[in-house]
Amino acid sequence: MANIRKQPVLRMSDIYAPTLKEDPSDADIESAKLLVRAGMIRKEAAGLYTFLPLGMRVISKIETIVREEMDSHGGQEILMPFVQPAELWHRSGRWDVYGPELLRVTDRHDNEFCLGPTHEEIVTDLVNNELRSYKDLPKNLYQIQVKFRDERRPRFALMRGREFIMKDAYSFDADEAGLDASYARMREAYINMFDRMGFDYRVVVADSGQIGGNASEEYMVLADAGEAEIASCTCGYAADTEAAQATPHPVAYAADALTKLETPGVHTIEELAAFLGTTENACVKALSCKAADGTLWVLFVPGDYEVNEVAVEHLLGEFTPLSDAEMKDAGLVKGSMGPVGLPEGVKIAADESLRSIERWLVGANVDGFHFAGAKQGEDFTVDAWEHLCMVKEGDACPKCGKPLSIARGIEAGQIFKLGTKYSEAMGVTFMDEDGVEKPFVMGCYGVGVSRCMAAAVEQSHDENGIVWPVGIAPAHVCVIPLSGKPDEVTEAAAKIADELACAGWEVVLDDRDERAGVKFADADLIGWPVQVVVGKRGLKEGSVEVKPRATGEKQSVAIDGVLEAVE
Ligand code: ATP
Ligand code: MG
Ligand code: MG
Ligand code: MG
Repeated sequence: MANIRKQPVLRMSDIYAPTLKEDPSDADIESAKLLVRAGMIRKEAAGLYTFLPLGMRVISKIETIVREEMDSHGGQEILMPFVQPAELWHRSGRWDVYGPELLRVTDRHDNEFCLGPTHEEIVTDLVNNELRSYKDLPKNLYQIQVKFRDERRPRFALMRGREFIMKDAYSFDADEAGLDASYARMREAYINMFDRMGFDYRVVVADSGQIGGNASEEYMVLADAGEAEIASCTCGYAADTEAAQATPHPVAYAADALTKLETPGVHTIEELAAFLGTTENACVKALSCKAADGTLWVLFVPGDYEVNEVAVEHLLGEFTPLSDAEMKDAGLVKGSMGPVGLPEGVKIAADESLRSIERWLVGANVDGFHFAGAKQGEDFTVDAWEHLCMVKEGDACPKCGKPLSIARGIEAGQIFKLGTKYSEAMGVTFMDEDGVEKPFVMGCYGVGVSRCMAAAVEQSHDENGIVWPVGIAPAHVCVIPLSGKPDEVTEAAAKIADELACAGWEVVLDDRDERAGVKFADADLIGWPVQVVVGKRGLKEGSVEVKPRATGEKQSVAIDGVLEAVE
């Protein structure tokens, strides 16, 4: 793990690493608490964070791993604009369907743009007229860049930010066989990356969601705080529960919503509105319909969401919107949801059929969409939710029939076979060997760089702080002299630090004039993999203490044996 080049010893007295004793009041999971307390990140606003120097060191480590694996698996790094012209999104057809996660902006000349949530449009436009012939293929272009998604619920700090760092790669091939090979190379690169980051993770079958396409895998870091659910079986089957039922995102969100519903106990429409994050009198959209088995359903979503017909179909199977008469029979008042009304400015005339409400509801945003609903007649009970919850613990594995177990995971990366979805929509072609112009066969491959930082902390921490995996730690060793004022202890510590650095380790010297307790607490909180403690008494006997952060087991080591002990 050691670097070959000597690194300068970092001094704690120099580093801008403002550690905190108290948990930040708004931190909602361990990584959010610990990264802020360890002086690695600071919150600016919802979903917007600054990375402080130690946090940046971790980000750089992750980026280096990602770059090395991309470069050794055929990737070539580029950097595309973060601000993207709307025109390209119109060409791909996504401008109208992406939904509110896409932050749209207008420039001084009234031209529309969006802040890049992903880059299929830009990269496809890039290769248009540049990659002309099958002889130019395959190509794999990637970048590491800030993305912006106006997530409905930015939370869990770096796990679900609005602005976050992503590595996104795009492959171009002449045919499906070429794509298969490109995809397989990326798969290998991803396994190497997440191994090197020290994650305990699963590769799972995924739903290809909003990006589109026909084959996809996710890399799920196992952690209780994960927002994703993984269904797995001893036979090796593992799938995102979204994919386990071959459904789009809303269904998984319904399951997610179910989990939450059990806690607050949502029984009334007011409680539902509160649960959906809307205020009384605020907007809740509703769709009343009948499933194929004859059960009546009322589906609700917050007013700023679009309901997708396809999503409803996935939720209920075949459905028909209720006729006016059926609604009346069921006691539903069209266009009025009791205390929660319809959005301002949206008028539904008394004589309009429910179809028109549905048409208004049909938007297309699927991602980030929370579903709540119940069988008409029951009052939003958990039982009703069981119908919405998809794969459950103990359900039969689709591969072997044995019972599935469900675990929570953090989606650290995802790879997709896109096929010709974007090249065809945007008319981007190359000349194939047979002289025919054909659309590129594409793949895309994402890694959440900043989310990986949070995932590492979720997976590896204790009551005292972070326990960084060596591969992405901000530095490897912290040398702690039990003295602040210059004396033989600080001198010996500086010497040990220098020797370790000469051997290629990244070393931090805690040269602050602070009490031992403060230094120990900070070292545990920040989570350096190894601490070397230099004290007066030990020095007399020619020894120091070496403490690996992970085990916490202190070991007395002769000064000239420190290098070996750190190894
Ligand atoms: P999620 O299901 O968590 O919303 P996604 O499937 O929408 O993620 P992708 O489009 O697959 O995300 O983007 C690639 C990677 O970017 C994800 O695997 C994840 O690691 C990361 N990512 C996505 N959204 C966020 C976010 N809001 N904050 C931090 N990282 C994110
Ligand atoms: Mg998402
Ligand atoms: Mg996802
Ligand atoms: Mg994804």
